[in-house]
Amino acid sequence: MSAVLEKEKMLHDDLGVNESGHLTIAGVDTVELAKQYGTPLMVMDEARIRRNMRVYRSAMEKSFGAGSYPLYASKAFSCKYIYRIATEEGMGVDLVSSGELCTAVSAGFDVSNAFLHGNNKTDSDIEYAIECGVGHIVVDNMVELDRIDEIARSRGIVQPILLRLTPGIDPHTHAAITTGKVDSKFGIAIETGQADGAVAYTLGKRNVRLDGFHCHIGSQIFDVTPFCDAARLMIKYIVHARDTFGYEADILNLGGGFGVRYIESQPELDYADFIERIASFIRAEVKKSGVKMPRILMEPGRSIVADSCLTLYTVGGTKVIPGFKSYVSIDGGMPDNPRYALYQSDYTVKLASRMRDVDDFVGTVAGRCCESGDLIQENVPLPTPRRGDILAVLVTGAYNYSMASNYNRIPRPAVVAVKENGEVTQVIRRETYDDLVRLDM
Ligand SMILES: *Cc1c(COP(=O)(O)O)cnc(C)c1O
Repeated sequence: MSAVLEKEKMLHDDLGVNESGHLTIAGVDTVELAKQYGTPLMVMDEARIRRNMRVYRSAMEKSFGAGSYPLYASKAFSCKYIYRIATEEGMGVDLVSSGELCTAVSAGFDVSNAFLHGNNKTDSDIEYAIECGVGHIVVDNMVELDRIDEIARSRGIVQPILLRLTPGIDPHTHAAITTGKVDSKFGIAIETGQADGAVAYTLGKRNVRLDGFHCHIGSQIFDVTPFCDAARLMIKYIVHARDTFGYEADILNLGGGFGVRYIESQPELDYADFIERIASFIRAEVKKSGVKMPRILMEPGRSIVADSCLTLYTVGGTKVIPGFKSYVSIDGGMPDNPRYALYQSDYTVKLASRMRDVDDFVGTVAGRCCESGDLIQENVPLPTPRRGDILAVLVTGAYNYSMASNYNRIPRPAVVAVKENGEVTQVIRRETYDDLVRLDM
């Protein structure tokens, strides 16, 4: 009895098992969805996305005061649908390319609430951003600053900006998702004195307005300490900039990186509590330093969309190699989810079509690409999968579809959303073979 109950315990409350023994998301039968829309299929729980956004919005206003708010870091999942939800939920957004900007604009998002990032914005990126009326450009280096100032001057405007600084923090996560160290392709280092040069240079420009500073220390961080360390260094720098240049920052943007629960052994963070702990640290530091309290911005990406989504696949078959290991093959893989291949990311995998069966198989979930590294997860306990079973990979809302490719000319999956009223709508249609050859001359 307890084995069954134990198996029905899911990573979070919006996932469950129905009377047919099928996995459900927001109460909807995933096996039925797979039948209706085909696989691979990404299924998003809209209520959960909205709830995640609301948690950040209300926590930031409560902990930091009016004028402090979250920006959804849309590289985690960028499509018209998500910018419409961000609009309805009063979120700002963080954009990292003209492509994301154009998607936001085409969804009707008011980009005066957008911050444009990127470590190599081209001239046409800058022109396009200014033409669209992007609220802030987060400046990464001084070559870029010169171009922003020139382009803004040619259009007779003053462009609000932040300077992206690297505070010199290593949050001890995976090297590829650690960005706040001095040795990084992003931002301007405080430690080397280059930040001072950048502030002095920026303050001498007439067509940019320096509104404050930005930093982003990494991703999938479960501890408040690295955020507090970064905040302490950034506030120290705000004090230094005031004393050195007479410049008082209005905005301190602390970036994103809040951890998300992918597997049972990871904690489920209470983001409101997490934010309040960072806020009480910041209030104390600001008070000690005597600077005015800046408006605080944060840029959650993963923690807005990751746990709202799962991906459904159809099982092709298993391969058992006696004395070695076993594989289960699915009709997707690295084209729709390259994260295991890139970072050996953790995932929880379920046999959605037979949730109540006993786990009598341990295997590696393998994609369909001609690439040995095309795996989704290794050593996964499952009921012995059969051809035609539906397999679900949980918590795939962030950095899955947005990192998807057409490797091996595999069409990208469809994305559907379960609305708050239980209705299911397609938000991105499945690519067709016509789509695959659309650009070929
Ligand atoms: C990627 C990124 C984020 C979002 O990080 P998450 O870990 O998804 O919350 C925020 N800000 C910047 C500058 C980023 O590069």
